[in-house]
Amino acid sequence: MIEPAVADLWLPIAVPIMRASWVSPRKGQANVSQMHYARQGVVTEEMAYVAKRENLPESLVMEEVARGRMIIPANINHIGLEPMAIGIASKCKVNANIGASPNASDAAEEVNKLKLAVKYGADTVMDLSTGGVNLDEVRTAIIDASPVPIGTVPVYQALESVHGSIEKLDEDDFLHIIEKHCQQGVDYQTIHAGLLIEHLPKVKGRLTGIVSRGGGILAQWMLYHHRQNPLFTRFDDICEIFKRYDCTFSLGDSLRPGCQHDASDAAQLAELHTLGELTRRAWKHDVQVMVEGPGHVPLDQIEFNVKKQMEECSEAPFYVLGPLVTDIAPGYDHITSAIGAAMAGWHGTAMLCYVTPKEHLGLPNAEDVREGLIAYKIAAHAADIARHRPGARDRDDELSRARYNFDWNKQFELSLDPERAKEYHDETLPADIYKQAEFCSMCGPKHCPMQTKITDEDLEGLEKVLEIKAGAAELTTVKLDKAD
Ligand code: SF4
Repeated sequence: MIEPAVADLWLPIAVPIMRASWVSPRKGQANVSQMHYARQGVVTEEMAYVAKRENLPESLVMEEVARGRMIIPANINHIGLEPMAIGIASKCKVNANIGASPNASDAAEEVNKLKLAVKYGADTVMDLSTGGVNLDEVRTAIIDASPVPIGTVPVYQALESVHGSIEKLDEDDFLHIIEKHCQQGVDYQTIHAGLLIEHLPKVKGRLTGIVSRGGGILAQWMLYHHRQNPLFTRFDDICEIFKRYDCTFSLGDSLRPGCQHDASDAAQLAELHTLGELTRRAWKHDVQVMVEGPGHVPLDQIEFNVKKQMEECSEAPFYVLGPLVTDIAPGYDHITSAIGAAMAGWHGTAMLCYVTPKEHLGLPNAEDVREGLIAYKIAAHAADIARHRPGARDRDDELSRARYNFDWNKQFELSLDPERAKEYHDETLPADIYKQAEFCSMCGPKHCPMQTKITDEDLEGLEKVLEIKAGAAELTTVKLDKAD
């Protein structure tokens, strides 16, 4: 259950239904994808909305969507969606994973986790439910309550539909579930089509083998049936389904490394090459694509990984999980991965999938969702500043002004997690009077260096004095030189 202390902090989410009138004229058309319209020179309502949110010209949004460098995941059946963009031209985004497992959770709790994720700034949310509940019911409840795009991994439900029996799972089961998710309004689906049967031997020698759940299911399927990955062989059929709903591909990286040792190996790069081919195949259908990436990567290999993805996948938006830059901190993997995420964002990754402190240890609870999201909002924002995205530093500057002016309430307000900032401040100085105090308990009232308000006028005065002194010293040197 969600802890009451955190639950109390939730704000109601107003889900506008503005999209109903936008999408109704499109229903029944053969291809309703944003990319399809953009390639015809049409600025859809979603593109115009995104342009406003991102402070970008509408024409640029349209061109980027047409080019495939930006996506707007917006299933026509997700009416309550507030459209957003993922791409190099827009701000770096953050995804949060929720989902019921066979051991824990129910539909109400998942909707609560969704609200919490949105409250702490998730730009998209993936429902990774694997069982223990009615998966369709949970998904419908999540989509109905969500203003942000919802992503899913249909392979989980495909396996669930045959009661976990790989031998009974056939190609049509996959496609049936994929279409069902589209009908329900899922905005993007992780499709593990890049894992080919010939890639599997390349996993030999890895420390942690295959760590993608979906990838593991498909590998087992191929090993059992000795046939090619059905998501690869039926890829064009999946494109035909996606274009009818404007569902976006999130091309899954089944062979992402699960540890530092396995990073950037032959298996990972072979799959990435196939993901590039699939990207261009989906684009031929005017279907939107982003590409998923690792995982666990040492700091010095992150830039290589981002550049390689851009090159192989013709700059389709990159969506990475972490990456974790060391494997030795279970319990703190929101930190080990946020370090990698900031660097990945800086080098051009478009969306970061959050990692919570429970990664590798258990199903995250509400507090873990909060910790993970804040860590990733920091990483994404740091990347935006480093990439000099217009206006990215405005909030930092405003907070710094408030800090220098000892405007504590404003400082809290501008924080990524205002409740946490206030809670920590008030731990030692709870009284209201301290909200104007010119110090905090760290350096104390007598030693706060920010009390020394050195003004620009003071510094200008000092500059003049220094100039005069420098002039006098020069004169002395000249005199001494002459005397020599
Ligand atoms: S007391 Fe120290 S930590 Fe606190 S506001 Fe002043 S400089 Fe900052």
